Amino acid sequence: MRIVQKFGGSSLANRERIENAARRIAHSAREGNQMIAVVSAPGDTTDRLAKLGQEFPCAASAREQDALLGAGEQISAALLALALQSLGQRAVSLNAWQMALRTDGHYADAVPLRLESTRIEQELAAGKIVVATGFQGLDGEGNLTTLGRGGSDTTAVALTALLHADRCEIYTDVDGVYDRDPRLFPEAKRFERIGYEEMIDLARAGAQVLHLRSVEMAKAYRIPIYVRSSFRPGAGTVVE
Ligand code: ADP
Ligand code: ASP
Ligand code: MG
Repeated sequence: MRIVQKFGGSSLANRERIENAARRIAHSAREGNQMIAVVSAPGDTTDRLAKLGQEFPCAASAREQDALLGAGEQISAALLALALQSLGQRAVSLNAWQMALRTDGHYADAVPLRLESTRIEQELAAGKIVVATGFQGLDGEGNLTTLGRGGSDTTAVALTALLHADRCEIYTDVDGVYDRDPRLFPEAKRFERIGYEEMIDLARAGAQVLHLRSVEMAKAYRIPIYVRSSFRPGAGTVVE
């Protein structure tokens, strides 16, 4: 099988967590699967970058804001590739430019459109695990775009569709989708399964567990999304 596994920022916040993600990916690779990992920036890196950018009077330059914000994902991608290599796996990190993930030109809210290079396919064919930056894209003129806060989920779904992957798994810091934020409401109930429409409603209402566009895209391509905890075993929630 060809599997996309996405790891969010809190799942990559330090060395132990990056190694934990690498072990999961390596486990699936050892089962004979072709693996594409999609990563968010480590911990609160994106927030910190956004704050840095706001310190300058010309904070309104959307192009440079996106160039700045998208930088965090590259850190995770390289670190995760190093962690995988440390486990004896062959792995390569690829950013938006290297995989040529084209988006429209809407800075801070770009929509992934197509992959204009076969680089990912070449690396997979060579037997490597691909670690792809989430959140970043390239517009038609080669400017770096970002997909909106939380947009790495959308990268994961887009790559699942564009690479005809068999499975899309989103690893995060909660063990699935709940009827309300389980961090704020201890009595929240976890769904074993939730339909696209219901998930879209939850995301629209602000549940950040999945980026709204990722669910819309999954619905359009009929891709089930498996939401699971990075830290605990369990089936999590399937959005389908
Ligand atoms: P990641 O860094 O893995 O992308 P996010 O912080 O974007 O993770 O999303 C996970 C968070 O979403 C959880 O920590 C949780 O507090 C929050 N959340 C809000 N609403 C929900 C919900 N209905 N179900 C699950 N998690 C939710
Ligand atoms: N790192 C980006 C953000 O913080 C993208 C993501 O986490 O999905 O919004
Ligand atoms: Mg997120």
